[in-house]
Amino acid sequence: MSSEDLLSSVSDVSEETEFYTPMPDGYIRGRCKYVVIVGTVMSGLGKGIFSSSLAKLLQDKGLKISPIKLEGYLNVDSGTLNPFRHGEVFVLDDGMECDMDLGTYERMLDQNLTQANFTTSGQIFTKVLEKERHGDYLGRDVQMIPHVTGEVKLRLRELAVKSGADVVFVEIGGTVGDVENAYYIEALRELAYEEGPNSVCFVALTQILEPKTLGEQKSKAAQLGIKRLMEMGVQPHIIACRAANPVTNKVRQKIAQYTNVSLERVFSMHDCESIYVIPSMLRELGYDFEVIRLLKLEQRVDLQRERKEWLKWCDFTDRLEPLEKNITIGITGKYTSLRDSYASIIHALEHSGVHLGVNVKIHWIDTTDITDENAAEILKEVDGIIVPGGFGVRGAEGKIACIKYARENRVPYLGICFGFQMAVIEFARNVCGIRDANSSEIAPGCEHAVISILPEQKGIEGLGGSMRLGGKDIEIKPDTIAWRLFGKKSTIRMRFRHRLEVDPQYIDTLTEHGLVFSGKAPKEPIMQVLELPDHPYFIGTQAHPCMTSRPLRPQEMFVRLVEAAREESKK
Ligand code: GLN
Repeated sequence: MSSEDLLSSVSDVSEETEFYTPMPDGYIRGRCKYVVIVGTVMSGLGKGIFSSSLAKLLQDKGLKISPIKLEGYLNVDSGTLNPFRHGEVFVLDDGMECDMDLGTYERMLDQNLTQANFTTSGQIFTKVLEKERHGDYLGRDVQMIPHVTGEVKLRLRELAVKSGADVVFVEIGGTVGDVENAYYIEALRELAYEEGPNSVCFVALTQILEPKTLGEQKSKAAQLGIKRLMEMGVQPHIIACRAANPVTNKVRQKIAQYTNVSLERVFSMHDCESIYVIPSMLRELGYDFEVIRLLKLEQRVDLQRERKEWLKWCDFTDRLEPLEKNITIGITGKYTSLRDSYASIIHALEHSGVHLGVNVKIHWIDTTDITDENAAEILKEVDGIIVPGGFGVRGAEGKIACIKYARENRVPYLGICFGFQMAVIEFARNVCGIRDANSSEIAPGCEHAVISILPEQKGIEGLGGSMRLGGKDIEIKPDTIAWRLFGKKSTIRMRFRHRLEVDPQYIDTLTEHGLVFSGKAPKEPIMQVLELPDHPYFIGTQAHPCMTSRPLRPQEMFVRLVEAAREESKK
């Protein structure tokens, strides 16, 4: 049976057939093409960075791109994952809590994504079990193949229809050989068969080892990893070889020979100084046109547009090595040993630094032992301070001590979510004189919980699903620092992920003592931006401004922090 016959027979579910491939309404085969990225040998190859960089090159050429990450784990979303193990939880505008790679796609493509761009095994199985309970499988025994793989293909085709994409970029989480992602790879093998030739391009990302003791590049692990993929019925079209140094021709030839991939399609993807130069590396090596040829997209490409977009991008990357002085931003945090847990903040600082021509160095501060007495000594090297998002008690008092130091010593300060809440507590204690002011998260049952549980969250049991999540509008008060920062706009939008807020009964006391709430939720008394007028720069927000910072559009609160830090460090 040809793939054509297959697709026509699957629509008639009443007929006894071995094929099960549910199709979304309006799906036109051949309209959307797919690029599938799988990793072999090991995790941590930077599949997301690779995939988003390649996607950007196609987007620049006028092609509509929609990425999707397929996660192997059984969690329904990333909300319950510990950022220390899995990197930061990234929040999309529609409230989806997802893998940090979605942040990479949003930044690289300068595009807001939705829950349709992220799926987990938990979501896939939940859907299959719901359908089973609903009797949708017409008495059939429900199996990994075709039902679970059918659900995966449905998700991909739904994304194709909904986004109207020319190319859907599918990033399969994990490494080939994992039990968790085997059914995803199988689903994509089936998809490639059903869609027909020139519709699905498989890219295998692999690692070339370079053991110090040998001093040369070795390809065996890569060969075996790709073989494993081929055993699963997938012939890669392109192989991208991760390595510390440019991959030698000898290694590329070996890989080509063992994998049936022509030499021109076995590429090097060696380490570079910044992830933002990866698109130009891929472009110089010719990855983009190989994909275009493989998927027969030549007719849809707009080279004039590409020239314009590429100039804009180069203008950004040309400034990656700023000449001007260094400044140091101190970031307090619980997960200081794992940079991935603060990925968006690091990127937002980088975007601002490039924009201003300042080299921003980050100084990680473990606050567990910081007190009012030693804060000055510990913070003397920093030009600005960020207290980022966080949960729980550990290090909270040390963060409050850092904020007091920043407020009193005119050190530029940006408080993000938890850092906003801690700034309110610090102000309540040390300016308003409410000595025992605290947050009900840190001191449950305390008398003066200036930060307490959101009314809308009270009574919601369990952890998953009990937070105020996603993009929300913020009403900005005229004639404030925030108002000027955001170009005098009356409403802005940022991403949220929190359970607690400023208790409205303390708002008057706080403002009477000089704290300005310059941003609030439009319809409720939820305070969302705070600032101190008589300070070089002291601002906080209940939102996560880092999540909407983009290379070519750095987020305003971060830009001003870096600028203020530069000004203050000159004095
Ligand atoms: N723990 C705080 C809350 O739930 C802050 C959350 C955060 O920083 N993301 O409101």
